[in-house]
Amino acid sequence: MPPVIDNKKCKGCGTCYANCPGDLFVFDKKQKLPELKYPDECWHCGVCRMDCPEKAIRIVFPLEML
Ligand code: SF4
Ligand code: SF4
Repeated sequence: MPPVIDNKKCKGCGTCYANCPGDLFVFDKKQKLPELKYPDECWHCGVCRMDCPEKAIRIVFPLEML
């Protein structure tokens, strides 16, 4: 399952947007809201989850990756 952002924890730092190697996020700078724009293209590298300082991103990794 592609990353899910917990909007209650997210502080809008933009790190997920900046660091996703696939540029799969868009970021609303005014509202400080990231959104995963292309979830079907996510290959579960885990960078967004690892780099989020608020631990606001949850990823359910596909079984074959565990
Ligand atoms: S890295 Fe985490 S806190 Fe920062 S914008 Fe993304 S989800 Fe929000
Ligand atoms: S898991 Fe990797 S490819 Fe998928 S959205 Fe996060 S940083 Fe991008």
